[in-house]
Amino acid sequence: MEPKHYDYLIIGGGLSGLQLAKAIADHDLLQSKTLAIVEPKSKSKNDKTWCFWEKGEGKWDQLVSHVWHKAKVNTPYGEKHFDLAPYQYKKVRSVDFYEALIPELKKHPQITWIEDEVIDFELGEKHLIKGKNKTYTTAKLFDSSPPKKKGEAQYPYVLQHFKGKVIETTEDMFDPKAFTMMDFSVGYQDQCCFTYVLPTSSKRALIEFTFFTPSLVDKKTYDELIEVYLKQAGVENFSVEEVEAGVIPMTSFPFWKENTHNYMRIGTAGGWVKASSGYSFKNTEKQVAKIIELLQAEKGLDTPAKAARFQWYDDLFLRVLYHQNKVGNKLFTEMYNRNSIQSIFEFLDEESDITEEVKLINRFSKLPFLKALTKKALT
Ligand SMILES: Cc1cc2nc3c(=O)[nH]c(=O)nc-3n(C[C@H](O)[C@H](O)[C@H](O)COP(=O)(O)OP(=O)(O)OC[C@H]3O[C@@H](n4cnc5c(N)ncnc54)[C@H](O)[C@@H]3O)c2cc1C
Repeated sequence: MEPKHYDYLIIGGGLSGLQLAKAIADHDLLQSKTLAIVEPKSKSKNDKTWCFWEKGEGKWDQLVSHVWHKAKVNTPYGEKHFDLAPYQYKKVRSVDFYEALIPELKKHPQITWIEDEVIDFELGEKHLIKGKNKTYTTAKLFDSSPPKKKGEAQYPYVLQHFKGKVIETTEDMFDPKAFTMMDFSVGYQDQCCFTYVLPTSSKRALIEFTFFTPSLVDKKTYDELIEVYLKQAGVENFSVEEVEAGVIPMTSFPFWKENTHNYMRIGTAGGWVKASSGYSFKNTEKQVAKIIELLQAEKGLDTPAKAARFQWYDDLFLRVLYHQNKVGNKLFTEMYNRNSIQSIFEFLDEESDITEEVKLINRFSKLPFLKALTKKALT
């Protein structure tokens, strides 16, 4: 039997796949076209807590379960408090996102939700997608499955890896108006690591221990470090309500160079995770908007994803973290102590201009970057 053909096919119904499918449907691109989403999982669990900053109202506000207007960073020089205005830091539980988008997409007459796992595909005039259960063809393929190739030796590859516990305390312990972006008070073997705290009430918070390192640590290490953090913060009587763990690859490998006229890597697989911060929720919205413009203009999908200078900054920062990991905490401390949170957010969002970038870069210690540049030049 001929494989079923779709005009658009998306591998993966996660963050990027679902945002893209919804945008394609919302922009009337399915009046005479069909779309399939191939996803093996039921997506019924809260597997991630997505947080992101944005100015004022946003596209996903109906799904936002908590908003913070203040943040703090705890460095060896003390606690620094930030008023985020005009930004807000917002939290979306992945399960709320899946429950809002998946039933709506499944109801759409031009969209087919396929429960299958893609095991291979061949790009051609009609791309051939081989699933565990069936084979499909498509004219345009969007792929959010993890790339087989993790990068190449010339690109640094750092992992953001973490474990977090949502705890409920018996007494008031947290300020739900302020979240902790990075707390360096608990460390581990000179590695770049910190605790991230998201309080959602005076008695409930996500306490997450995070590393930015080239390799993973033993599973029990995260638990031990969270325990040390809680003891230090005087949190003794609590229950663990939820657990979240993850590994986010951070690389400057230009995955988008593998895009073709009718094939595009999306999400983490497409380099949409900011290489130096690990955030991608807000960038997903921006990248999806660019794809919609390309589809509406009937242009190819092989257009460059971002300004070369941001690629260069990320690459350099990752090189420092890869080869001189122990300076990571110091660099983050300098970044937060010497700049406004608004200019940091603008820079990480790649919305700053060169003058602001030069000022921000000048406030970092130069030596680690010079060492990284020298090493890069010699390899
Ligand atoms: C625990 C965790 C917390 C995070 N928190 C934040 C945060 O707070 N803020 C932020 O900005 N970013 C965060 N990130 C980073 C990033 O936003 C997420 O990883 C995001 O989900 C990436 O979107 P994606 O579409 O690339 O991947 P996913 O959302 O993981 O979607 C990929 C989908 O593809 C499916 N799939 C995989 N292989 C196949 C295959 N062979 N065939 C078919 N389907 C397949 C998977 O089942 C999955 O549903 C977090 C990441 C993790 C892991």
